[in-house]
Amino acid sequence: MALIVQKYGGTSVGNPERIKNVAQRVAKYYSQGHRVVVVVSAMSGETNRLIALAKEIQSNPNPRELDVMVSTGEQVTVALLAMALMEHNIKAKSYTGGQVRILTDSAHTKARILRIDEEKIRADLHSGYVVVVAGFQGVDGANNITTLGRGGSDTTGVALAAALKADECQIYTDVDGIYTTDPRIVPEARKLKTITFEEMLEMASLGSKVLQIRSVEFAGKYRVKLRVLSSFKEEGEGTLITFEEDNNMEQAVISGIAFNRDEAKITVLGVPDHPGIAYQILGPIADVNIDVDIIIQNVGHDGMTDFSFTVNRNDLANAMAILKNSILPHIGARDVIGGDKIAKVSIVGVGMRSHAGIASKMFRVLAEEGINIQMISTSEIKISVVVDENYMELAVRVLHKAFDLDQVVQ
Ligand code: ASP
Ligand code: MG
Repeated sequence: MALIVQKYGGTSVGNPERIKNVAQRVAKYYSQGHRVVVVVSAMSGETNRLIALAKEIQSNPNPRELDVMVSTGEQVTVALLAMALMEHNIKAKSYTGGQVRILTDSAHTKARILRIDEEKIRADLHSGYVVVVAGFQGVDGANNITTLGRGGSDTTGVALAAALKADECQIYTDVDGIYTTDPRIVPEARKLKTITFEEMLEMASLGSKVLQIRSVEFAGKYRVKLRVLSSFKEEGEGTLITFEEDNNMEQAVISGIAFNRDEAKITVLGVPDHPGIAYQILGPIADVNIDVDIIIQNVGHDGMTDFSFTVNRNDLANAMAILKNSILPHIGARDVIGGDKIAKVSIVGVGMRSHAGIASKMFRVLAEEGINIQMISTSEIKISVVVDENYMELAVRVLHKAFDLDQVVQ
């Protein structure tokens, strides 16, 4: 008998029929003798609808009030699922994040979980209940309702699994696992049986949208056994996120290809090349909470250099304004140019640690297709390149093939 936390995303609870299906799946586990805690998202589209509604009143909605409002999406689905479970003659009880007491910090719309009081849930499980918990939300120390950022129900699921020391956390979604890349771009993409936690973390941060990155961090920190599965397929083991590297010699060097169209590139031209310049450019950008991703500084000549970096597309206008108005005049750079017609393509794999020549192979494959690389960034287990967005899909396709990701390895 195991303790299982199951999380169902918005499409899995998108209408009453689907909620009934979820109840049926939960009932199956319950009848096998497992104790089950279920975390659900709002019905698909509901969070977007609520945010749009708020924006009709306030163009930049007050974060505290926005949280009060968007958290209602999940409050609806927990109750509906509890009712659906009762229809299976299962004792079920729903809770909002605040009722459990999922304690968070006070950073409205992107709060972090600090602690979970899990005693009430334990007691309910002990009395034979299936406990249904609203994802995406908590309360701060003063009982203000908070939310955890878009996609935050994943994090609720993993955090609950950690707090309850669950045997497994199952994330049910509209895909049946983690793929080598997005099958909508590469039809030959394969579902992975396992992926290491480190690879999953890179994939999530590099643009794979299957799991919220914070949920993966949580799983790593608390060693939660995490599995991604489809809520629409009866069969299948999904993808298990593991903590051990597979020592199998046949293991592919590259596990997956991630891509991301959400970034924009900024280049500061004619920057005087002296100590402190990176700080003078990026300090004011960081001060307004704009995240910078890839950074490149050219080799200087004649005392001048160029300095490029990427930011989220949503932050481009703001970053450009700050650069033009306050940074450029201050550091005496010639000009600044920005553009959002870029995409980042990354290959990820723990196998890179033990194999040489992966980067050069990647660059050769892109060169053969005439794809210009604008920026490069590497870590121990990933290589990212920034290319023209028009070449993104081509880059993903040729790399997928070149690294044999369409071949089944056992
Ligand atoms: N309902 C929230 C969202 O749409 C949280 C989630 O689905 O995980 O972002
Ligand atoms: Mg999601």
